[in-house]
Amino acid sequence: MQAIADRLARLRERVAVAEQAAGRPAGSVRVLLATKTQPAELIAATLALPEAAGMLRGENRVQELVAKGPALAGLGVPTHLIGPLQSNKINAALRWVDGIESIAGLDLAHAVASRLEPARLLEVMIQVNVSGEPTKSGVATDEAVQLALAVAELPGLAVTGFMTIGANTPDQSVVRSGYAQLAAIRDQALGAGLSTATELSMGMSGDLEAAIAEGATIVRVGTAVFGPRGA
Ligand SMILES: *Cc1c(COP(=O)(O)O)cnc(C)c1O
Repeated sequence: MQAIADRLARLRERVAVAEQAAGRPAGSVRVLLATKTQPAELIAATLALPEAAGMLRGENRVQELVAKGPALAGLGVPTHLIGPLQSNKINAALRWVDGIESIAGLDLAHAVASRLEPARLLEVMIQVNVSGEPTKSGVATDEAVQLALAVAELPGLAVTGFMTIGANTPDQSVVRSGYAQLAAIRDQALGAGLSTATELSMGMSGDLEAAIAEGATIVRVGTAVFGPRGA
């Protein structure tokens, strides 16, 4: 666990340096640990470290959410789904999440809203495909604000912001301009009256500095903490 504690400390330092470089207040960026493929015991031990205080957890696959849910639910760590959601898995996912970052269409949002227990308010983000890469999920940039406004009308769903997966290229200027686009979309949504949509979930182990420079409020980090994932 010492290696993970050290990597968490280095990660916190990277975030702090990036916040300062961007002229943003210390603590304005939260870290979501992307725990895909990691066993529940390791995740629980990681989240119990003082270096992980205040961090969130994210899973990509509903199957992993469900499998690890019982072991991790008692930790009080907010858990987000950050991967695709199929309609036949909504009920399973809803049992184990505090938020869904991967809402990319109105049909899915309707289906989620219709499965919520009465009086439950679920935080959701709109996933946007800023890079336009066909392999990436997410609504197109020019439809994102409209989708956010429509989702916000559905009962039980609170739109807290926007999420994206950055462009898959070593060219940091391309990655960064994608993040700037997501920030512009968030600002348009706020301007259109969606006052709850303040969050920008963007940036991963390799590019979190670029995301923080463009206003990320949540960075999603896996390998920088857990090391490379096995094949
Ligand atoms: C795995 C994953 C991350 C973290 O990526 P790393 O490069 O391991 O930091 C972030 N977001 C999503 C959606 C992921 O699937």
